[in-house]
Amino acid sequence: MKKYLLFDLDGTLWDASIPIVQCWNDVFRRKGADKQLSLDDMHRLMGKTLPEIASALFPGWPDAARQNLIQECCEAELVPLKRQGGTLYPLVEETLRTLDAKLDRHDETSTVSALNRDGTVEDAELAQLTDIAQTIGALSGGAFDPTVAPVMDAWDFTGDAPRVPSDEELSALLAHVGLEKLSVDGNTIALSDGAQLDLGGIAKGYAGDAVRTVLAEFGVTSAVIDLGGDVGLLGAKPDGSDWRVAVKDPADPSKFLGVLTAADTFVVTSGIYERGFEENGVRYHHIIDPKTGKPAESGLVSVTVVCGDGAWADALSTACFVLGEAGSLALRDTLAAEKNLRIELILVTDDGHVRYTAGLAERFEPSEEGTYVYEAIIA
Ligand code: AMP
Ligand code: MG
Repeated sequence: MKKYLLFDLDGTLWDASIPIVQCWNDVFRRKGADKQLSLDDMHRLMGKTLPEIASALFPGWPDAARQNLIQECCEAELVPLKRQGGTLYPLVEETLRTLDAKLDRHDETSTVSALNRDGTVEDAELAQLTDIAQTIGALSGGAFDPTVAPVMDAWDFTGDAPRVPSDEELSALLAHVGLEKLSVDGNTIALSDGAQLDLGGIAKGYAGDAVRTVLAEFGVTSAVIDLGGDVGLLGAKPDGSDWRVAVKDPADPSKFLGVLTAADTFVVTSGIYERGFEENGVRYHHIIDPKTGKPAESGLVSVTVVCGDGAWADALSTACFVLGEAGSLALRDTLAAEKNLRIELILVTDDGHVRYTAGLAERFEPSEEGTYVYEAIIA
């Protein structure tokens, strides 16, 4: 028997979601809204934000009314999704909650917080994930570094008062950053020289892996796991065709660069738009170059990695963002040669180019409204 589950945490619209179209149309009918959507309409809306969808569908309505209506649609779609998910839906939520409670360094009771406080901790799963983080750190020449925590804290990107630390402050903090200050021995992880572990660049992808495993164990053959920027695809669509994943435009995340056709893989994007702040006309984003302690300036504004493993895809998207185009392509070759791991990339440069690796030539469909120059990289 084929089970089908669509798990969506951030309101992104996916095609193949006939039940979702029905839910929306039911709400429209109930509310007396003069509109019924087709699946094609849904495709057109894919990648847009909820307020944009609301204004596209009900142009004459007051903002609040149309947003309420769309909100209600999103709530309505959860009911059949939960039903389709059956007992799986709470199980997936539980998987995510458990991981969050272990990996979130901002949660004082997490295992990572215990490690950061005590300098050492024993946990098989955390050791395994830290080991992957370290491996990717080494393969990327330190571009990915899960010990950037003190530098992240100084910038305080997620806090109420983000700020630009001075060069002196950053160089003092960088003394506590470095892969060599992190060690994994069996199930024991240890930190030295006042280092702190931050798995923010890999945890979401790993969570995607965990959810995908839970779903697969329960016989689900077809699912989208959307954790916001990190998308896991289990199998293909229920009708056997590939999923279509919209890749956001880093200059305006309410638009999209194009659509990627894929199945049974992860599609993970790191971009400058995700988190950050602006001061004196300069935008500071949350992906740090561990060599400088400052937001990476590699000429890239967004990197999408397509890779079969969620944790790897996530960490590699962060690493490639720091490395820039040439470094990313070199890392891709290293992964193929040393790890027998094939990844595909969509790189967006700060001068308006979208370059994608040859493996995506047939799979990446540039957006028609795009203002970018699209080029396949023959490699
Ligand atoms: P992502 O959005 O996956 O690119 O991850 C960004 C998050 O990873 C940040 O919020 C930090 O917690 C962490 N981070 C930032 N810079 C780095 C880096 N160079 N290496 C590893 N983790 C990083
Ligand atoms: Mg990442």
